[in-house]
Amino acid sequence: MKGDDAILVDTGIGNRLGAVERQIFDHGDGWLPDHLRALGMEPSDITAVIVSHLHFDHCGGIVRRRDSGVLEPAFPRARIFVQRGELELADNPRNERLHAAYRHTKEILTPIRASLEAVDGDTDIIPGVRAILTGGHTRDHQAAMVADNAESFVHLADIVPTRSHIRGPWNQAYDLDALRTMEQKAHYLAQASENAWWISFAHDDTIFAAKIKNDRGRFIFTETIAVSDRLFNS
Ligand SMILES: [Zn+2]
Repeated sequence: MKGDDAILVDTGIGNRLGAVERQIFDHGDGWLPDHLRALGMEPSDITAVIVSHLHFDHCGGIVRRRDSGVLEPAFPRARIFVQRGELELADNPRNERLHAAYRHTKEILTPIRASLEAVDGDTDIIPGVRAILTGGHTRDHQAAMVADNAESFVHLADIVPTRSHIRGPWNQAYDLDALRTMEQKAHYLAQASENAWWISFAHDDTIFAAKIKNDRGRFIFTETIAVSDRLFNS
């Protein structure tokens, strides 16, 4: 939150999957609106969503499935920011691998098209909150940076998905451009280490965010914030 703005970075899978897919992806019942309410917020309080990329586990929760089966915007007041190149590729995947990666996006994006804002490269969403084009995991993957004099924070999404990925060569098998992921990771982790930024992890079940330092060529944690059991299991 910053002033009157409340900005989400990614939305998780959401509630749109059927029973079979939920089993395949081993995903629990907890979901973002419940977690927001635990913080005293409603989905309608969210003013912007920065979507790192359009894989369904990061953007599925932009919509919510009603009991009737209809999909509606999950955050009715939010402007939704996606890199233009990511949108173009999702709308028009050029080969089978990309088609598989983006097969969910039409269903997810159709209800929220009116709120969608394509951005080109690094973009200030509001003063102090910036979307940063990284590429790597997908061609137009973006990270989010909150710059503040007191304490800055970067969410690298699938560039550093878990605490294990702070090690240079640890990449995800489905990174489109593994070398670019490694370069971007090295760049932002070095900055985080030098400037004492918080970094947060999209896919870690234990550590929500951490500060790191370079200890003789490898990064170690100096401070961590645990994933809240209450939120994670609710
Ligand atoms: Zn991904």
